This record gives sequence, C-alpha cells and structure tokens, in this order.
Amino acid sequence: MSKVLFINGCAHGHINPTLPLVKELVDRGEEVFYVSAAEFRDKVVSNGANYIDIGEKFAQFNRSFKLTGSHPFYSVVDYFLKSDMLMVPLILEKIVDIKPDYIIHDSIFGGGNIIGKLLNIPSICSCTTFAMNKLPLPPHMFERGFHPELDALYYNLDNAAKELGVGELTLMDVFFKKEELNIVYTSKAFQPDPESFDESFKFVGPSIGERNELVNLTLEDLDGNDVVYISMGTINNDNIEFYNKCIEAFKGEEMKVVLSIGKKSGVERLQSIPDNFIIRDYVPQLEVLKRADVFISHAGMNSVTEALYFEVPIVAIPQANDQHMIARQIVMSGAGISLKADDITPEQLTNSVAHVLSESKFKETSRRIGKSFREAGGYKAAVEYIFEYKKIKSL
Ligand code: UDP
Repeated sequence: MSKVLFINGCAHGHINPTLPLVKELVDRGEEVFYVSAAEFRDKVVSNGANYIDIGEKFAQFNRSFKLTGSHPFYSVVDYFLKSDMLMVPLILEKIVDIKPDYIIHDSIFGGGNIIGKLLNIPSICSCTTFAMNKLPLPPHMFERGFHPELDALYYNLDNAAKELGVGELTLMDVFFKKEELNIVYTSKAFQPDPESFDESFKFVGPSIGERNELVNLTLEDLDGNDVVYISMGTINNDNIEFYNKCIEAFKGEEMKVVLSIGKKSGVERLQSIPDNFIIRDYVPQLEVLKRADVFISHAGMNSVTEALYFEVPIVAIPQANDQHMIARQIVMSGAGISLKADDITPEQLTNSVAHVLSESKFKETSRRIGKSFREAGGYKAAVEYIFEYKKIKSL
C-alpha cells in the first residue's frame, strides 16, 4: 500500500472524471489524500479518499478567475503560474505529516510536479481535457521580445523557479505538465493528432457510471419521438436570450425538446413553455442522453464526452476556454457541427438540428467514438498503468 497525494483544482470538470479512479485506487489498497476546495469535500470523501482542504485563500483565487493581460494564451499561463505559486507552499504546509509516496496531479496544476520535485517523489499527470504535447501557438510567438506580456511571463517564470527552488520552469511546465505517465480521459479516436503522442500518454477513455440522481422528468415521455437535448453546462448558463431562441426554433415541431436552463436563469423569464418542451434548471443528463437524438451543447468536455459515450451527435455552440478547441474537434472528427455563439438565429438552430438528424454520417461517427470510449479501459486500465509505473519506480 502506498500513500498517494492527488492534487486538483476547484472545478467539477477536473474533479468528476478522477473520482472512479480514486475509488479504484482505494479499493486496491492505496491510501489517497485528495487536495481540493471545501465544496468538493463530500465527493472526494464518498469515494474513499482522505480530504485535504487547500484553504479558502486558494479557493477564492480560483473562484475569482480573471485573465489580467490582453493576450489570451500568455495571460492564461500567467494565471496558471500564479495558481502554482499560491498552491505549492499551501500544500507543502498541509502534508508535512503525510509523507506521500507519489503524486497524481491535474495537467494544468503543474504545481503538483513542483511538489514532486521538492519531495523527490514521482508524479503522474491526470488530464481531463485533450492531451497536449506542445504549446498551441507557432514557435516565433514564444521568442523573447515578441510581446511585452510574454517577456513579463519569462521574467515571472525565472523568479518563480528561484523562489520555489526548482532550477528552471518552462511555459510548458506550467501550461500542461507532462510526466513519465499521463492518464488521459478520452480515447485516441477523439484526441486531436493522436499519433503525435508518445507511449507515456495512456488514453483510457471516460469512466461514466450511474449517478443515482433525482429524475425530475418523465423519461417515458421521450420514447418514440426525436429528442433534442439542450444544455449550456453548469457555469456560463445564464443565457435567457439563447433559451428563448431555442423555444422559437423548436416550438410546435414534431420532436421533444429537453432544455436545461441552469440554476441562474429563472424559468419565469422564458417567453413561453411550448407543449413539446420539458424545461428544468438541471436534468439527469446521462438519462436524457441515453434517449437523445441530437445534443445542442456549449461543448464542455464532460458534456461532449458523455454525449459521444451514448452515441449522440452534437451541435456545438462554444463560448469560452477549451470549448472552441473541443468544438473544432467535434467538427474535425465528424461527430457534429459548430455554430458561432454571437449571431445565432432560431432558423439556424432549426436547420442545424435538421441537418444533423438527416445526415447519417454524424450518427455513425458518434457511434464509432462512443465505442472507442467504452473500449478504452476506463479507470481500471488507468489503475493498471499506475501500478505498472509504481513497479518501475520501485514503489
Ligand atoms: N449536467 C447535468 N445536468 C444538467 C447540466 C449539466 O447533469 O442539466 C452535468 C453534465 O452531465 C456534465 C456537467 O454537468 O457532467 C457539465 O460539465 P461540462 O464540462 O460539460 O461543462 P461546464 O459546466 O464545466 O461548463
């Protein structure tokens, strides 16, 4: 039995995919210490891990996520670096008595790697988005002198490395901290440029189980109809204007529409509730996807993965963060189409859904990717890889 220090941030999307893995590690005898913010405590503990509170200071920093610079990439790396600088001393302080044998950290929390180096123990990377093996811009955009924000970033990296006592820190160390073992929760069939990744990347696919959630709609109402499911996720979902456009687009159509409007929108602000609509502030998404024919989604990684797992093609409407990249991959793979969020019209929504429903290639691709997800091995394969790696490291 070893002691595992699992380091993650404060987002459901980065924590949920790791929970089956945590449970399996515990079931196989590992003692897991999971670092996250207080709101995630129950999730972590109910999967058998010991919870380590990262503290309100970090949680607050994470909640108030705001990019300060004008350049999206340089400022996101700057944000990750600040996050690492805050996280590393806080965690070191919390684990003095634990003495972990190895670390598993989220790919964007390179701080996990720094802690591994300082404690002289191995680190494994847990990747809940797409895997990355290079910076996502052309090389000349990383030459010193190219942009003042880039130069400031290099300066901050040098200072951080000195302050933490870790020799050197690169942009890639902070943006996506690759390790000797990298567990990725998608399959090669959905990963962009899959052949460019070396053997250290293990594409184990998602682990999607039953959620035992409250079922707040009559699922049988969906049987025998074309079902359109619409959700903008759980974060940026206060978008009444968009939901009204959906109502305009699909009211009176020969199909059932399940619309999840999120907890902030308020159903009373909708123009009407047509007979063919089921509208809730949150739905049991996996149950709905099992019955859906097309999913209009903000292209969040979890939603897209869940949809493809259940072989549902997607109309993506990406808005922020990695959603644009995920939407591009939906289009590239052929599992759906993507629309621009700004100038969407009800006609576009109607036509897009009709297009995806009428062309069999979207369904066929979703089926192929869904199959690859189910066959990738999931959390059990992930734990096998971790145990193999432990052997190599004599743990
Ligand atoms: N979700 C759900 N019911 C809803 C809306 C969302 O169960 O009505 C779940 C969904 O299954 C997914 C998560 O919330 O697991 C959303 O994660 P995603 O990465 O797609 O988007 P985010 O909320 O992080 O923007």
